[in-house]
Amino acid sequence: MKTNSHPTFRYVSVGYSCCGDDFLQTMSSRYDLERLGCVEAPQPQFANLLIIQGTLNAKLITEVNSLYEKMLTPKYIMALGTCSCGGGLFPLSPQHLPPVEVWVTGCPPRPEAIMNGVIALHEKVSGSREKSKSSGMKSGAQP
Ligand code: SF4
Repeated sequence: MKTNSHPTFRYVSVGYSCCGDDFLQTMSSRYDLERLGCVEAPQPQFANLLIIQGTLNAKLITEVNSLYEKMLTPKYIMALGTCSCGGGLFPLSPQHLPPVEVWVTGCPPRPEAIMNGVIALHEKVSGSREKSKSSGMKSGAQP
């Protein structure tokens, strides 16, 4: 039986800055993020991907941590924009985040860069699945 090796990401996003405009473009029909298996989740309880956009401050980091706790496991984080990746105006930001799988830099990151980030996350997640499958097979083969 043939199975789809690519995971589906159901995302929630947080961030109120200019990076959000490019993320909205990425969701539009021109770029169509859904064709990469990335769809918006109605609530964080149904999401496995948190997309952080742009500037983060102390209040937003509290929101990020709260959303992250509510999400399904396994769960992933993608940070968009130089502000999210490097701290921007608030250099404390990245150190206070839950673990981030993919960093997409740029000010703002172009939709193509955001899509590359999603592809990189697919590869990372598929790679770790393959690893765990093969290690499971090895341990199963042992007496
Ligand atoms: S990285 Fe650039 S575009 Fe994104 S929030 Fe910061 S200043 Fe705005």
